[in-house]
Amino acid sequence: MQLREDIRNIAIIAHVDHGKTTLVDQMLKYSGTFLEHEQVDERAMDSDDIERERGITILAKNTAIRYNDTTINILDTPGHADFGGEVERIMKMVDGVLLVVDAYEGCMPQTRFVLKKALDQKLTPIVVLNKIDRPNARPNEVIDEVLDLFIELGADDEQLEFPVKYASALNGTSGEEPEAQKETMEPVFTEILDHIPAPADTADEPLQFQVTLLDYNDYVGRIGIGRVVRGNIRVGQQVVVLKKDGTKKSFRISKLFGFIGLKRTEIKEATSGDIVAIAGMDDINVGETICPQDHPEGLPYLRIDEPTLQMT
Ligand code: GDP
Repeated sequence: MQLREDIRNIAIIAHVDHGKTTLVDQMLKYSGTFLEHEQVDERAMDSDDIERERGITILAKNTAIRYNDTTINILDTPGHADFGGEVERIMKMVDGVLLVVDAYEGCMPQTRFVLKKALDQKLTPIVVLNKIDRPNARPNEVIDEVLDLFIELGADDEQLEFPVKYASALNGTSGEEPEAQKETMEPVFTEILDHIPAPADTADEPLQFQVTLLDYNDYVGRIGIGRVVRGNIRVGQQVVVLKKDGTKKSFRISKLFGFIGLKRTEIKEATSGDIVAIAGMDDINVGETICPQDHPEGLPYLRIDEPTLQMT
């Protein structure tokens, strides 16, 4: 099987305040992905205000980080149990997860909740033990707690072999051991590239794209975010949406968006493994498959158990 070594799709999961935002900020900073005019000190994932100004309701927060020759797509996940369905859907778009755990606080209720979702999807987690700079940090104990939690949640043998990185996202340091901290995010990046599988390259096969999350933008209307599971998708392409009720609806892809850093950027086409946003169809819904007219093959429908679109 051909692989797309130029991509990794991961989700970042953690209990609230354990440092997801700060870690992603540091990774962006370290990789130099920030566009020149962007403020590095602006908290990466807290871009709600900026997005609101542009009239966009953000539901999925995707950060694309370019590291060496690879684009790492990092999908943020809500930790709260009310968003269980959304977390599950995000897990279906990625090939691995970064589990961030506070080295002092240890495993908390949302750690358990999101880790369970990741393990159920057979994803291989990388554990980042964060806040190693805290004076009362207890990394060795917390790692034992994490291992216990993996076992309790039914991790398989492969998942139990989870790699661990120790970090202070706040100070921009990381390392293989709690004591050996260096001012770099390199160990985290290297682990992502080595440990998380690259997506399959199925560019020659018929398109399948599944709408996994919805978003809305005043200019282009409804936006379906998802992963190109198979084949290619391009602007101008005539496709069909396989609706939940079994009907088909044809439409033309009018706009495609990819991601660079924290921003969406218009693109002309995308290939298997890419996570993209599609505009141009007002009644697409979560779970529906977009495919070519002559190959209407739907992907298994996704469960939805919470509201997925808030138009304000
Ligand atoms: P999130 O809710 O997981 O996105 O957490 P944030 O990244 O917003 O971090 C929550 C709080 O923890 C903020 O006040 C951060 O400054 C702080 N924080 C994040 N990483 C570290 C760290 O490595 N060390 C310390 N001491 N504080 C951190």
